[in-house]
Order: sequence, then C-alpha cells, then structure tokens
Amino acid sequence: MAAESSHVSADARKLDGKVAVITGGASGIGACTARLFVKHGARVVVADIQDELGASLVAELGPDASSYVHCDVTNEGDVAAAVDHAVARFGKLDVMFNNAGVSGPPCFRMSECTKEDFERVLAVNLVGPFLGTKHAARVMAPARRGSIISTASLSSSVSGAASHAYTTSKHALVGFTENAAGELGRHGIRVNCVSPAGVATPLARAAMGMDDEAIEAIMANSANLKGAGALKADDIAAAALFLASDDGRYVSGQNLRVDGGLSVVNSSFG
Ligand code: NAD
Repeated sequence: MAAESSHVSADARKLDGKVAVITGGASGIGACTARLFVKHGARVVVADIQDELGASLVAELGPDASSYVHCDVTNEGDVAAAVDHAVARFGKLDVMFNNAGVSGPPCFRMSECTKEDFERVLAVNLVGPFLGTKHAARVMAPARRGSIISTASLSSSVSGAASHAYTTSKHALVGFTENAAGELGRHGIRVNCVSPAGVATPLARAAMGMDDEAIEAIMANSANLKGAGALKADDIAAAALFLASDDGRYVSGQNLRVDGGLSVVNSSFG
C-alpha cells in the first residue's frame, strides 16, 4: 500500500484561514511568531500588556490580518476577553500560543527570593498558560479542533540554568501541557510546548544581564550543534508554526525542544 502523505502541506501558506491568539505577542519570540503566522495566511490577535509595542506591530501587519488587545495573562477576565475578541473579530480560534513570560528578579539563591517574587513568576509563566488553555478550549471544543502551544524553556528540562521560580514554572508548564493534552484530545485539540534555549530578547537581556551579542555568542558556543550559529526567535517561530499547522496534526502532549541538543547532551564526544 502506498504511503499516504496528503496531510503534509506543500503549501507555502501553512495557516491559510486560521485564527491565532499570541500572548506576549508584542515583543521577542511572540512578535516574530505573529509575523510568521501572518505570512502563512493566519489572522492574529496580539495580546500583551505593552500596548504601544502591540499597536505598532498590528499597524505593521495590517488590520485585516491582525488586532491588538490589552491582556494581562494573570487576569482571567483579560484572557477570556482576548479569546472572545478573536472569535468576534475573526470568527473562530484555531491556535492559542501561550507565550507571555517573565524571568522574574535574578535571584538564584532561595534566601534572595521572596514569596511574592516566586508567586509572580508562577502567575505569569504557569497560571497564564492554564488560563489561556482553559479559555481557548472553551471555544475550540465545540469546533472539535485546535492547537494550543505554550512557550516553556530549556529550563523545563535542565535545572540550574535559571532561578528557582523560573525553573519551577517551566517544569510545571510541561506537566500541565501533558495533562491538558490528555483531557482535550477527545475534543480534537492538540496541546504542546516549544522550549527555546537562549534567544536574544528583552527577557533574556534582563535575565542574563548581557547584551544581544553576548547572549548570541554563548548559544553559538554552547549548543551541541556546531556551526548553526546563534539561536534566533525565527527558529522558535518555525517550531510554533509546525505545531500550529496541520503538519503537526498528530503531535500532542510534547515538549519540542529547540536548543541545538543542549538539553540532552551533557558530555563532549570530542
Ligand atoms: P520578551 O520579553 O521579548 O517577550 C515577553 C512578552 O511577554 C513581552 O511582550 C511582555 O510584555 C509579555 N508579558 C510579560 N508579562 C505579561 C503578562 N502578565 N501578560 C501579558 N503579557 C506579558 O521575551 P521572549 O524571550 O520573547 O519571551 C517569550 C517566552 O519565551 C517567555 O515565555 C519566555 O519565558 C520564553 N523563553 C525565552 C527564552 C529566551 O532566551 N529569550 C528562553 C526560553 C524561554
């Protein structure tokens, strides 16, 4: 019997007609993904707390393809409204990208980290994706389709690279994603994470206390995969595109690690 491959799209526009919400969409990985999704035919709701940045991205992408909403992902009303805005403005929701995140204060020792610091990081990085998944599922389940993606991190599988709060939030996000994939699969909804290593963005600059060149040099030198240079936001957007599109139609409950092998290789083969 011939191998069937009709679902793998050769179409250059892999999200034609699809509607996406991207939290943390005004900056960094989220903004890069918004640009790629629109290039692939999607209409995108950019949801963020940086209103000026979000509005200027939407001005760039155009009003037919994009819309901005102020959305603090720790606020359930805001998240519900962002999802409802996508449906009201563009008719449906196919893709939810829970990408907003914070590094939190650079406190590596427990003694330097307050309870409030810890809870704030969990609120944005873990409760935010929970709310995004819950409200996306509310509108996706009746349509019996959808792809929900959350941005985790190298720190979802490697400990010691970031603060206790950040590492905890990203490990837990993978656990939540697997559980959510278990519950939502029966409704035709796929749930996955994408896990970047270091990408030069405002978040990474704040967390690492370095400029873009220094961040890119670290990745180019530490990735197991030699010769690939620095990890870019484009690389994460491409992984999100795969998970969002029908090319990833059988992928659910996974943590797609885009890190040049850093998370799995801890020894040198010389
Ligand atoms: P970024 O700072 O460029 O973008 C983060 C965005 O999230 C910003 O636009 C910010 O306004 C928004 N945001 C923060 N708190 C919010 C809230 N409460 N509600 C709504 N939006 C909020 O940084 P980035 O690197 O593009 O981060 C995107 C995601 O990637 C984050 O989840 C981050 O943890 C993850 N990540 C980044 C790296 C990296 O090296 N850059 C590595 C691993 C994971």
